[in-house]
Amino acid sequence: MFPSAFDYVAAHSVREAVAAKAEGGDDTRFLAGGQSLLPMMKTRLANPAKLVDINRVPALDTIERANGHLRVGALVRHADIARSDLPFGVIAAAAPWISDPLVRNRGTLCGAVAHCDPEGDWNSVLLATGADVIATGPSGERAIPIADFIVDFFTNALHVDEMVTEVRIPIPVGRVGGSYQKLERKIGDYATVAVAAHIELADNGTISRAGIALTAVAPKNTKVPAAEAVLVGNAPSDVLFAEAGELAAQASQPRSDVRGSAEWKRNVVRVFTRRALAAAVVGANES
Ligand SMILES: Cc1cc2nc3c(=O)[nH]c(=O)nc-3n(C[C@H](O)[C@H](O)[C@H](O)COP(=O)(O)OP(=O)(O)OC[C@H]3O[C@@H](n4cnc5c(N)ncnc54)[C@H](O)[C@@H]3O)c2cc1C
Repeated sequence: MFPSAFDYVAAHSVREAVAAKAEGGDDTRFLAGGQSLLPMMKTRLANPAKLVDINRVPALDTIERANGHLRVGALVRHADIARSDLPFGVIAAAAPWISDPLVRNRGTLCGAVAHCDPEGDWNSVLLATGADVIATGPSGERAIPIADFIVDFFTNALHVDEMVTEVRIPIPVGRVGGSYQKLERKIGDYATVAVAAHIELADNGTISRAGIALTAVAPKNTKVPAAEAVLVGNAPSDVLFAEAGELAAQASQPRSDVRGSAEWKRNVVRVFTRRALAAAVVGANES
C-alpha cells in the first residue's frame, strides 16, 4: 500500500518545527521514527497533508541524568534506552520489550508517548514512575504530568502547535526497583497484557512509593491508584501483592478478542501485577 500524497518539510530547529506545525494545523504531523505513523499512512488510517520531519533537529537525541530527572529527548530511540546504563528500574526493564531490533533502532520514546496507543508500552512505564511530558510551542515549554497528557485512545493533551521535546522521569533518592511484565503472542509483538511496577523502599524496608500501570486492557494506558495506595507504608509481602493484583484486575477493562477472553486477560493482570511487584522489590533490595 502507498500513502496518499503529502507535503514534506525537514525542520532544523524546534522553533522551525513548531512554526511549520502551527501553520499546517491538524492536517500536519511530526515525523520522528515513523514506526507508527508510516504504517498508518500506508494503510490510509492517517492521511496527513504535510509531514514535519524532526530528525535533523539538533540536541534532541540526548538521554541524561540532570536536576534529579532522567531526561529523554524527542529523538532518543528505543534502542538508545535499551543500551544506556542511565535508566533505572522499570524503564530499563521495559526497553528490550519494545517490538524488535528494527523498530527499536528507529522508533522514539517521545513518539510512542505522543501516539497514545493503549497497546504501547512506554506510557505505562511513565505512569508508574510519575513522569512529565515537556511540550514546546511558540510561546515556550510546559510540563504536563503523564496522567494528564494521556487523554484517551490515541489522543494526547498537546495543543495543535506543540511538540514533545522531552520526557522527564524523577530519579528516586533511595532504594528503587521496577519490573515490566509483558505477555505477547510472539517476540516483537504488541502486548496482549502488560503491567509496569515501580517500587521505592524506605530505610525500614516498608514501601515508600509505588507505581502500577496497565497496558492493552483499557482504551488508554491505566494507572491504578487504589493498588498503589494499599502498598504504601506497608512491608512487602505476598499477601499485599495479591491484594494489589486484585485491585489492578478490578481497574482493568479488557475486551475479548482473538488474543483471549476479557476474563482471562483480567486474570493475567492479577497474576502479572503480583509478579511485577515481587520482582520490583527484589530489584529495590539489590539497588
Ligand atoms: C512492527 C511494529 C511493532 C511494534 N511493537 C511495539 C511494541 O511492542 N510496543 C510499543 O510500545 N510500540 C511498538 N511499536 C510502535 C513503536 O514503538 C513506535 O516507534 C512508536 O509507537 C512511535 O514512535 P516513532 O518515533 O516511530 O513515532 P512516529 O511513527 O514518527 O510518530 C507517531 C505519532 O506521534 C507523533 N509524534 C512523533 N514524535 C512526536 C513529537 N516529538 N511531538 C509530538 N508528536 C510526535 C507523530 O506525528 C505521529 O502522530 C511497534 C511498531 C511496529 C511497526
